[in-house]
Amino acid sequence: MVSTSMPQSILISRTLIKDLSDHLDQEVFLQGWVQDIRNLSKIKFVLIRDRTGDMQTLALAKETEADSFAAINTLTPESVVEIIGMVKKNKESRWGIEVLIKNLKVISSAATPLPVDNSEKGLTHIDKRIDHRFLDTRNLKHQAIFKVRSKIVKLLTLFFDANGFTNIHTPKLTKIGVESGAELFQVNYFGKPMYLAQSPQVYKQMFVSGGFERVYEFGPIFRAEKSHTTRHLTEFTGVDFEMGFISDYTEVMDFIERMFINLLEKLPQEAGEELKLLGVNTLSLLPQKIPRITLSEAKKLLLSKGKTYAPDEDLDAEGEKLLGEIVKEKYGSEFVFLTLFPWKVKPFYQMKGDDAVNKKLAVGVTKSFDLLFNGVEICSGSQREHRYEIWRAQAKEKSLNPDTMKEYGEILQYGAPPHGGAGFGLDRITQKLLGLENVREAVLLPRDPERMTP
Ligand code: ATP
Ligand code: MG
Repeated sequence: MVSTSMPQSILISRTLIKDLSDHLDQEVFLQGWVQDIRNLSKIKFVLIRDRTGDMQTLALAKETEADSFAAINTLTPESVVEIIGMVKKNKESRWGIEVLIKNLKVISSAATPLPVDNSEKGLTHIDKRIDHRFLDTRNLKHQAIFKVRSKIVKLLTLFFDANGFTNIHTPKLTKIGVESGAELFQVNYFGKPMYLAQSPQVYKQMFVSGGFERVYEFGPIFRAEKSHTTRHLTEFTGVDFEMGFISDYTEVMDFIERMFINLLEKLPQEAGEELKLLGVNTLSLLPQKIPRITLSEAKKLLLSKGKTYAPDEDLDAEGEKLLGEIVKEKYGSEFVFLTLFPWKVKPFYQMKGDDAVNKKLAVGVTKSFDLLFNGVEICSGSQREHRYEIWRAQAKEKSLNPDTMKEYGEILQYGAPPHGGAGFGLDRITQKLLGLENVREAVLLPRDPERMTP
């Protein structure tokens, strides 16, 4: 028997809500947050929640200690409580069981009113929810998004590891920018300008050449894009990888295809409860093979939807969305690789497809691809130009001076294997996998042109 004058946790160890049904007719010690309170005169219900679920507990005038029974009168939602009680069968409870409170102790009382509505209806607007994100994530459905995201990181990490990749961490304060310069955030670095990394591109190539052959990184990416869309942020989490000794850019696509099939197959084992809560079945998304179509074929398909593009133009967001619909209809796939983008719209370091060795590819394109998932780009990749002289020439063709990129050029001057790689947005993968409207739903504390806090 437990004496309530002693600290409770010393005498009886905590039971998590998910394990309660293993303790039928036993006394348990619960710790958690109060989700809801229903105060009737002789019976009081306290819905309690921990990280594993929620549970009905109840206090009865006759069976609950008098102090505890009285404390429930002034109890506020989201307060932290400890409960000692008996697990009982109850057919009428949603869980089939409930906990009869013997003792309830308020550990930390929550102020009222709450700034967000954490009830199941959850009517608070996403902006306000993010203003008070730590309260918002107490909602188990919202928390589930981040638990799934965490398992995506785990499964991708295991997959990279199993395929001989080394996890690297590269600087986020940098002088080297190779994507569009307009998207750089400048930082005052002891009076000198530096930039927040907008891609680990150069560094991952550096360490393929550094003898690791295969490297990957999960890290922050900063883009000064003043875009107000449901898929762009100014800071996001990139999943970047690079692999050496490839024979062709299609090898990189093969790897990504295996990576995604593995992810969709294993996610239900890792996060079954969370996926159920979110109403998502990743197995139903599983492709046997991801269709691959060239950008010019895609443009022809889009003609049927009345979309027209110039030969050197990339697809816009509307085109990607429509293409997603066409591909789903035509190939029954939620995923599609778009390949061979025009040299004009791609960075100078991508390998061209129309050199002497690759006559079979169309002229004016690079050995590049994007992966679209339900009509949104989630990944871009390519084979990189590893031949120093051609790399220099391509820089010049894009009006860049290779002599100002000495650290980059050097990587290719002392023995660089043919290589390629890709970059994903972890936020977008999570968003699209869970069918979320806005990428902000999949990011704990998003940053966009308007949002700098919390
Ligand atoms: P988009 O055309 O959608 O703006 P991008 O082609 O500029 O994307 P890449 O440079 O190819 O983006 O970046 C690789 C991946 O990083 C993208 O496929 C996407 O998943 C993710 N990503 C890029 N920009 C953002 C952003 N601003 N916010 C969130 N994720 C992004
Ligand atoms: Mg891209």
